Amino acid sequence: MKRVLNLGTIGVNSYLVEISDGWVLVDTGYPFSYQHFLRAAARQGVELSSIRYVVLTHVHADHAGFLKRVLEDAGAKLICLPAERDRLLSGRNKQNVYLSRPILYIINRISAALPRFQTFEPVDVTGALDAETQPLEKEGITFFVLHGHTDNDLCMRVDDKLFVGDVCMSGIGSVGYSPLWIEDNAALTESWKQLLAMDAEFLYVGHGKPFLKRELAEFVKKQENRKLCKLYK
Ligand SMILES: [Zn+2]
Repeated sequence: MKRVLNLGTIGVNSYLVEISDGWVLVDTGYPFSYQHFLRAAARQGVELSSIRYVVLTHVHADHAGFLKRVLEDAGAKLICLPAERDRLLSGRNKQNVYLSRPILYIINRISAALPRFQTFEPVDVTGALDAETQPLEKEGITFFVLHGHTDNDLCMRVDDKLFVGDVCMSGIGSVGYSPLWIEDNAALTESWKQLLAMDAEFLYVGHGKPFLKRELAEFVKKQENRKLCKLYK
């Protein structure tokens, strides 16, 4: 079993997975959390230069916030989906998405008005590794793509763990195990079903604690008629 650490910042997980010559970092945090991240790394005895790869699950400011800085400071390679090139260059979350529950509309309008929560330093994917070519297969790490939280949600499998970004959540702001922001509800529901069909036990999410796949199964059963609220109309 590979060792997994969490250098997570305020409300966002940044997992480190051990490989033969260092670490793979899964997601960063908000742009303003970089110092917090560095302190967490120092506390856990992780040298920045030992981070060989940074995996970006999807292009949201709380995951790509200090991506550019950590790539430069660690001298790490980015693993992402080339299809996300334009979003990464935009430096901004996509607007006009759906919410899991109408009551969360106000919170999202407030966060949308605060650029520090929805913008990040643009990242150029030139030179990045395409996750779909399975660049870490020799390390026993494989990638697959789901959809619905954003257009492309990159997920990673390690042993019996699935790192799924925000395809599921369990932290503050989640509704059950659903993410708050949804770009395509039907695609997201399909993605949950794909996760349930996979032979792995644990879901490591971008927000909140890891949980068992069977907990997601119970949640999915109750989600047939969920109501969404469209944002930014
Ligand atoms: Zn997200």
